[in-house]
Amino acid sequence: MHHFAYKTGVLHAEGVSLAAIADEVGTPFYCYSSATLERHYQVFQAAFAGSQTLICYSVKANSNQAVLMTLGQLGAGMDVVSEGELRRAIAAGIPGERIVFSGVGKTADEMAAGLAHDIYAFNAESRGELEQLSAVAQQSGKTARVALRVNPDVDPKTHHKIATGRAEDKFGIPWSESLELYDVASQLPGLSPVGVHMHIGSQIIDLEPFERAFALLRELVQDLRGSGHEIEFINFGGGLGVPYRSDAETPPDPEAYAAIVLKAAQDLDCRLLFEPGRMIAGNAGVLVSRVLYVKPGPTKTFTIVDAGMNDLIRPTLYGAHHEIWPVTEAQANATVAATDVVGPVCETGDFLALDRELPELQAGDLIAVLTAGAYGAVQASSYNSRLLVPEVMVRGDAHAVIRARPSYERLIGADTLPGWLTGT
Ligand SMILES: *Cc1c(COP(=O)(O)O)cnc(C)c1O
Repeated sequence: MHHFAYKTGVLHAEGVSLAAIADEVGTPFYCYSSATLERHYQVFQAAFAGSQTLICYSVKANSNQAVLMTLGQLGAGMDVVSEGELRRAIAAGIPGERIVFSGVGKTADEMAAGLAHDIYAFNAESRGELEQLSAVAQQSGKTARVALRVNPDVDPKTHHKIATGRAEDKFGIPWSESLELYDVASQLPGLSPVGVHMHIGSQIIDLEPFERAFALLRELVQDLRGSGHEIEFINFGGGLGVPYRSDAETPPDPEAYAAIVLKAAQDLDCRLLFEPGRMIAGNAGVLVSRVLYVKPGPTKTFTIVDAGMNDLIRPTLYGAHHEIWPVTEAQANATVAATDVVGPVCETGDFLALDRELPELQAGDLIAVLTAGAYGAVQASSYNSRLLVPEVMVRGDAHAVIRARPSYERLIGADTLPGWLTGT
């Protein structure tokens, strides 16, 4: 559920007209709804009422400081995958004790930064990483709390590029080596292996892979305790899907997901950690763009808009489907025709939607690309020397630019010239 709806024929984010924001900040822009972000966090939290939890929003889904602060003020922790994300979380006021650090390639400097902030735990993914973390912890005189990310070899039945828990994926420690590596971790100085971690993929719609994977996690906790390890927490990762197609996809409801988690964690007396990203932010954002041209072709019509693959890469990278709504509500009797909605970037892969049935659009019309709050702005680039698009946050009737469109001076000025070109 989200808070983007038509009011008097114009698409609004909560109480604010997207057309009015377009007039003010220009197009394209991302717009986020605070109420939607908050609701998703609270629904997830409510599903685990009565359990000891730490919900670490996955910063990489949408790392705008205003988004982090909105969630942080509700008590959310953060799951970070780089020093940059760690710094963002700290800057948004998240205490270290609510931060976990994931990622398959943490550097020694990143580990030191995490230790300096006394983060809750590192999710470690290899023997080499355990050894490195041990060395860094000793140098800084700290103890690193660690969960090993185990790879259960479960197919999450999602898009190939966002499956992470199959044996062939680069993530995690092979299931068969997990017990041995906990023994290694417990013998390395500066490490305290107190948790288990798993994250099997993203945009997971079917609960069955979760169920199988979490049953394995339960076994692992029991086995580890049997070998003398003191396991305090289970981190179930993220991965819950969102309805990109409101008519065809029914993502698992948090209650059903919670039932599976609680069954796996039953009587283990562990703190339950989660790392939801998409489920919190996906539906909370739209990308608003203006139609530049409608170009009839020999086989189809192209609707050329001012947002492209550099602003939202999901359609071309993952074959992702995003619903597109006209900002001005179409008349009930409007003609609907299939069109390719494409951007201005010089790439054939630059599209937002292919063969999409849409009410007829004209140059100047505004469209909203839905469910663009997660893995949208964060994956944007300035390819073709296009400026990163602004981000706007709405709260009730109020709105604020939470990242301004940069200037061309800033874009060009980021490059520096060698002396042999300037003659200095
Ligand atoms: C990306 C990621 C998440 C968040 O995944 P969603 O599908 O957005 O919920 C959680 N944990 C880890 C380790 C990740 O890499």
